[in-house]
Amino acid sequence: MVDIKNVVVVGAGQMGHGIAQMSLLAGYNVTLVDIKDDFVNKGWDKIDAGMKKLETKGSLPEGATAASLMANCKKSTDLASAVKDADIMIEAVVERMDIKKQVFKTAGENSPSHCILATNTSTMSVTDIGKDSGRPDKCIGMHFFNPVPLMRLIEVIYSDQSSDESVNKGIEFAETIPCLRGKRYVPKVLKDRPGFICNRVTAPAQIYQNYVFDKAAEEGKSWAQVDNDARGGPMPPTVLADYVGIDVLYHGQTYYSQTLSPDFAPGKVITQLFNEGKLGAKTGQGFNDWSKGRPQADKDAGKAKLYNLKYPLAILLNEACRVLEEGITTTWKIIDDTLMAGMNMPGPMAANQKTWQRQIEVLDELVEFTGKEYFKPCELLKSGKWVEYV
Ligand code: NAD
Repeated sequence: MVDIKNVVVVGAGQMGHGIAQMSLLAGYNVTLVDIKDDFVNKGWDKIDAGMKKLETKGSLPEGATAASLMANCKKSTDLASAVKDADIMIEAVVERMDIKKQVFKTAGENSPSHCILATNTSTMSVTDIGKDSGRPDKCIGMHFFNPVPLMRLIEVIYSDQSSDESVNKGIEFAETIPCLRGKRYVPKVLKDRPGFICNRVTAPAQIYQNYVFDKAAEEGKSWAQVDNDARGGPMPPTVLADYVGIDVLYHGQTYYSQTLSPDFAPGKVITQLFNEGKLGAKTGQGFNDWSKGRPQADKDAGKAKLYNLKYPLAILLNEACRVLEEGITTTWKIIDDTLMAGMNMPGPMAANQKTWQRQIEVLDELVEFTGKEYFKPCELLKSGKWVEYV
């Protein structure tokens, strides 16, 4: 174990409670913090239920019981006092810059000077989040994936000011956090760019999806028809959007539109669903009705003939090349491994060693009919030199 004993997890929601549970399993003392007792208690109860389930299966570390591990989990609604003995704080509050900055400021003012301050942001600048912390060299990104117990990926991210020592400590710590489905994969993210590796590579597929959603609405096609276009791929596009959360997409796309390209701006359909509070699975209604569980395919609805699975693959390859171009990571294998560990999805790079020239044509085609310049093949893809990044 690294020289970290006390972990403070801020935000007891979906991600926070998962991070706290896995940190407890690793043997750390954990303090779970949220703004209201009710929220902390709910998070704590979920961890407790998770531990009991593992106990029943005989999957707890040797000598540990659910009760003995939960005895190491404190609850708090007072961040300032919760961090006073902290060796690392992991922030997993809502994806809002102002709130995250405030958490870092309070943590920086009240924790011991050696304490690492990590953010679990999915998209936003780690540098900006840590700006008012008083210790920007000790601020890093530590990006877990949902659900934390099962997804192997933890991206550890350099801000513009993180020290090597802080990042290395973050990596050592992340590698001690168990995963219930295989070995953790902990890539070092070298540049603080929106979406880091995993979310960045997959983000521009949302530009294409927005194009298809808006076109379908314009042409009076149903969502079942759009989904039928994509059978045979991973989750169909409207089901996936509902599952991720319309609000998450809306905020993420807005952020990318401000930081990467205006082409990311939320489409008309996503904006309307967002404004109507139809946020997907979590509210029971998004594109689809989730009141009776996951929506089933309506094969009789026919196809919209708008969504083509060949485009996302080309888009992913182009963006992965941009990630290399920008120096966010150093090899295409890291990108493929990151996607597999974070999304259970094969990356675009091993698959395109011989077919990349064809993907350039596919991207040109996309620019032509969508009018979205962001799909233009990047220089590294066009040169073919990306295959040498091994
Ligand atoms: P969530 O809404 O489930 O939980 C957020 C929690 O933060 C809530 O309980 C809320 O009460 C609490 N909170 C808000 N302000 C706070 C404050 N000032 N102090 C303490 N607690 C506060 O959200 P989530 O899905 O767990 O996401 C948390 C973070 O993790 C976000 O930055 C998100 O982008 C990131 N993330 C989410 C996922 C995902 O799939 N859900 C994956 C990776 C990263």
